[in-house]
Amino acid sequence: TALLHVENLTASVEEKTILHQVNLDVPAGETHVLMGPNGAGKSTLGHLVMGDPVYTVNDGRIFFDGEDVTDLTTDKRSRAGLFLSFQAPVEIPGVPLSSFLRASIAGRPGLEMKGKEFRRRVKELAAELDMDTAYLNRELGVGFSGGEKKKVEMLQLLLLQPKLAILDETDSGLDVDALSVVSRGMDAYRKSCNGSMLIITHNTRILEHLSVDRVHVMVKGHVVRTDDASLIPWIDENGFESFEREAANAA
Ligand code: ADP
Ligand code: MG
Ligand code: MG
Repeated sequence: TALLHVENLTASVEEKTILHQVNLDVPAGETHVLMGPNGAGKSTLGHLVMGDPVYTVNDGRIFFDGEDVTDLTTDKRSRAGLFLSFQAPVEIPGVPLSSFLRASIAGRPGLEMKGKEFRRRVKELAAELDMDTAYLNRELGVGFSGGEKKKVEMLQLLLLQPKLAILDETDSGLDVDALSVVSRGMDAYRKSCNGSMLIITHNTRILEHLSVDRVHVMVKGHVVRTDDASLIPWIDENGFESFEREAANAA
């Protein structure tokens, strides 16, 4: 079976059903994109896969790497190899970025490193992301720009080397600097980890340099279409209106 296998997932928040019988597979080593209009439930799916307790699973299961993870805590899922980029990266006054990064790999078999090795590795990755190493000593998130927060996120991704990275690029829009950081991070992740990606995005520019295996379209909490990468330029040109009409007719 696929690395990520979402089966018939119906889920709600505050009594309101957001996802309806969602089926979605991401096989190992593949890059998938999840697209859809604002409010469709894309971020909700990401949070559910990661185990955000805000959301309730009403029906269906989530399998990862052959294991039913539906009832696991976020920490256990993370240790199993799942990663979700945080939409609003944390600010922790008083904690330097390097300590935060160090803590995120602590106790992880195969990832733990000696201090010297850790510093060397982080410097290497920072260079790859074109990140000023002075940031490593700054307080986490405090006064970071959007692009800088993205760099932190990508650094964490490259350190953790998850089997599946769910990258939610949010609706807020990233500036050119942040976009290039994300592209570079995705590139490095694919090269160094050969991991799978599920990219949630409105911005198809970020996909230009990627080879995308499958595209899923979500409308009103339903996955209404799964197709190959040719769907991306089609959506660029036509938007989601035809999918929304179909969904309205089906309802
Ligand atoms: P997308 O990422 O596709 O724009 P979201 O998953 O953010 O969509 O939201 C889908 C729907 O679920 C929206 O109507 C949104 O208001 C609602 N929703 C998502 N998260 C929450 C939450 N924590 N509390 C209340 N409503 C939520
Ligand atoms: Mg949204
Ligand atoms: Mg969203």
